[in-house]
Amino acid sequence: MSDLAAALDKLQLDNLYRSRKVTSSAQQVEPIINGQKVLSFCSNDYLGLANHPNVIQRLASATQNMGVGSGASHLITGHHDSHAALEEELAEFIGCEKALLFSTGYMANLGVVSALATRNSSIYADKLNHASLNDAALLSRAKLNRYAHQATDQLNKNISVDESSSKFILTDGVFSMDGTIAPVKTLQSIAHTHNATLIIDDAHGIGVLGKQGKGCTEDLLSTNDILIGTLGKAFGTFGAFVAGKQESIEWMIQKAHSYIYTTALPPAIAEATRASLQLIKDEAWRREHLQALIQYFQDRCKQVGISVSASNTPIQPIIFGSSKTTLKISKNLLAAGILVPAIRPPTVPNNTARLRISFSAEHSIKQVDQLIIALEQLLT
Ligand SMILES: *Cc1c(COP(=O)(O)O)cnc(C)c1O
Repeated sequence: MSDLAAALDKLQLDNLYRSRKVTSSAQQVEPIINGQKVLSFCSNDYLGLANHPNVIQRLASATQNMGVGSGASHLITGHHDSHAALEEELAEFIGCEKALLFSTGYMANLGVVSALATRNSSIYADKLNHASLNDAALLSRAKLNRYAHQATDQLNKNISVDESSSKFILTDGVFSMDGTIAPVKTLQSIAHTHNATLIIDDAHGIGVLGKQGKGCTEDLLSTNDILIGTLGKAFGTFGAFVAGKQESIEWMIQKAHSYIYTTALPPAIAEATRASLQLIKDEAWRREHLQALIQYFQDRCKQVGISVSASNTPIQPIIFGSSKTTLKISKNLLAAGILVPAIRPPTVPNNTARLRISFSAEHSIKQVDQLIIALEQLLT
């Protein structure tokens, strides 16, 4: 047997083999997956905008006018007026000088960190950060120091004796597999004291957290911080942006390889994203309803004895530890028509396999009740 075939077999044996499901409907809370209509609790479409008529309409009409492909990278001729308009609107929404579009959040993280940090820099990173931030740190060749999840004392202690020429603190805003929220104020104060740059990847917070949907930094962002947001989650479209002060953004345009050496997003996607930004601003009820679902779920879990982790975000993990147990429960839920993914290492640390439940503003209380009943039968 070849090395790869043997390694694949071992993944199967360890319950770590991954396979893809096929979706054959629009993204919605009851999609058709592998030919079966399911009640889904696993999308990142937190506000229900991926299939919203305004967004669809804007994409369709923009495509009629501008076609599909952007034709080139941003620095050649791929930078359209739609991208420029979206960047201005995002900067204004976040409340910073400038914003820059990237093709994905993964690429934004790689680009930002490797453009700023050098082999003489130090990077401090939360241990539960998203894989893309870890990859970004490796790509930069900076010295990487990982601190335990939200252990700001440890971070403070280590950074205070660091004499590197430049220092960066990298954190998820909302931690993607735990639903916890970064202690933004403490991190800002540590960054300020030690002359470090704070880079926050708020992929899961943008659009969702804060009264106005500006994410975990709403009313907190300081001029020196760099914020990264994705558009494929709460915005319901595709792409990502980096927001910060003018000189940081100018630097990215000059130096971020994942910005420079890649085709610009289709301009129609930028137009569709402008429509979703408008909905994010206008329809606060989506965030309010989502918060009500989260609170309801947490309360009901307590009542019936399901040990869900504490989380005020739409990401609600139930940690089992064993990949095998987690897979089995996920399969049993699916048999009851409910889709909740089993998240296993290396996406999460060893022995912390979990169900990752995520809510959307399109879910009803009744659908959350269906989930609770199914979980109660399997777990208590
Ligand atoms: C999803 C995610 C990304 C990647 O964003 P994409 O636009 O999907 O590439 C980056 N960081 C975090 C924390 C994420 O959850």
